[in-house]
Amino acid sequence: MTEKLEELEEIVKELKSKIGIEEDVGIKLKKFKLKLASVSLSKKVIYINAELIEKLDEKEIRYIIAHELLHIKHGVFHTTKFQQELTRLCGKDLHTNIVEKCKAMNVQD
Ligand SMILES: [Zn+2]
Repeated sequence: MTEKLEELEEIVKELKSKIGIEEDVGIKLKKFKLKLASVSLSKKVIYINAELIEKLDEKEIRYIIAHELLHIKHGVFHTTKFQQELTRLCGKDLHTNIVEKCKAMNVQD
């Protein structure tokens, strides 16, 4: 579990510089029933579903972290700018993939 968290912290660091976020952003594993991930905009902490993280590959995990980081940059809404930047970072196919996977796992993105 600790190893996983270190891996996640590395991904956060890398994506933060790509997105252009300078403030510290923490990442924690959390037990969610339905959610894949969430972010606290006030605390600047990303929470990742501890169980589901095991079922996703690295690309998918990167996508989820990028999504939450973009909320820190753009705010709570999935605006056009938000979507465009996510597509630029992670590609469009991945979006479709992960939405399908979320549905299959009965969680929301
Ligand atoms: Zn979102």
